[in-house]
Amino acid sequence: MTVLLDERKEIIKFSLKMVSSGLTTGSGGNLSIFNRSKGLIAITPSGIEYSDLTPKDIILLDLQGNICPVEDTDHNGLPPDAVSSAHCSGHAQTLTNEENPAVPDCFIGCHANLKPSSEWGFHLALYRHRADINAVVHTHSPYATTFACLNREIPPVHYLVAFAGKKVPVAPYATFGTSALADNILATINDYNAILLANHGLVAVGITLPDAFNTAEETEFVARVCFQAESLGRPVLLPDDEMDRVIDKFKHYGSGRK
Ligand code: 13P
Ligand code: ZN
Repeated sequence: MTVLLDERKEIIKFSLKMVSSGLTTGSGGNLSIFNRSKGLIAITPSGIEYSDLTPKDIILLDLQGNICPVEDTDHNGLPPDAVSSAHCSGHAQTLTNEENPAVPDCFIGCHANLKPSSEWGFHLALYRHRADINAVVHTHSPYATTFACLNREIPPVHYLVAFAGKKVPVAPYATFGTSALADNILATINDYNAILLANHGLVAVGITLPDAFNTAEETEFVARVCFQAESLGRPVLLPDDEMDRVIDKFKHYGSGRK
């Protein structure tokens, strides 16, 4: 049986959208979905052009960082009854080295020998930290990243900042792919749905992948508007009570069609 195929297809759809919307370039950024009932996370592989991805390339992890097979019957082409239990247990590999997880031979054919995103640590940390989210999108979108490089939060210059919260705060800098970066993200996220990563980019979270993606896209729009407004003058910021009203209205916004 194929595991989390719908989630893996959805990740590819939004990976391509991330590039076509200009939210990232090359293999920058990463995306994941957490299926809480199955306890499995589907995440993009590290360093692969999004246009080259197929569903089999999307890596499955459990919340402890064990890599799991994408097919229940996927054992390098061997029928299940010809596979020793020792080989099967080799499919579950705990990623102890966050910088450079080794991929065992038995994964060749399961994940085409790909590694999970180097940022798997902060994706898992976010799912453990926020019970309300099931998707994480990380981008290097140019305007949000411009604010991130100034180590400057995005203020409530436009009401659409409410996709993220009352503002978009900045997590302090740490090297990509490290537990220090995951720690800085957890210390900053609170109940925001998007935060900047200093000198790096943006992380958006959501109940679904479309939600997290929309938040990343709208945050990039607000970052661009803020940049443009500041280049012409001093933008008028929305007051705190108005942001409360907007955030409340967002809870009931839309026609409900999915
Ligand atoms: P990965 O290709 O390993 O996901 O890395 C991209 C990135 O944006 C690192 O922060
Ligand atoms: Zn990045």
